[in-house]
Amino acid sequence: MAKSSENNRLMRDTHPLKVMRFCPKCGSSDFKVAGERSLKCKTCGFHYFANSSAAVAALVVNDEGKLMLTKRGIDPGYGKLDLPGGFVDPGETVENALKRELYEELGLKVQSFHYLGSAPNEYIFSDFSVFTIDLAFKVIPETTQGLRAMDDILDYKFYSEQEIDYNDIPAPSIKHFVQQYFQNERN
Ligand SMILES: [Zn+2]
Repeated sequence: MAKSSENNRLMRDTHPLKVMRFCPKCGSSDFKVAGERSLKCKTCGFHYFANSSAAVAALVVNDEGKLMLTKRGIDPGYGKLDLPGGFVDPGETVENALKRELYEELGLKVQSFHYLGSAPNEYIFSDFSVFTIDLAFKVIPETTQGLRAMDDILDYKFYSEQEIDYNDIPAPSIKHFVQQYFQNERN
């Protein structure tokens, strides 16, 4: 019990367990917190879990060793820096999500990629926390020529580490991937 109340204090007001007040299945208000990350309806028995959603982030490097960052065209963090990527669709593989997002956002075609690591994030959209597990990949593109910003990004640019202001990267997971990338490059 002590751990549970501790977690409740640390929860943001946008946490699903604080936001969802009615059962999304039957509409009952008898929809109560059950354990650390779920809500259960006492009327119809519907049990909702606040799990993590998978998302991908791509580290694309050009011939000069500079890293691509995009400028976000949607909230949260409109106009701020990000890595290309996004949510994995239901039923989709992570590999496909990586290729799809890069093509949708930039027209970029992937030649090869490898997995770097993961970092969790709390993505607040419409005053509701979506917990993500962001999976980072180093991506070798077919070409970095002729790319264009589309979909939910405003622009993109290749940066050396000196050109990056880490305060302009709002997502802690993305900041972590970028910092780690340049740290590994130095070693
Ligand atoms: Zn219900």
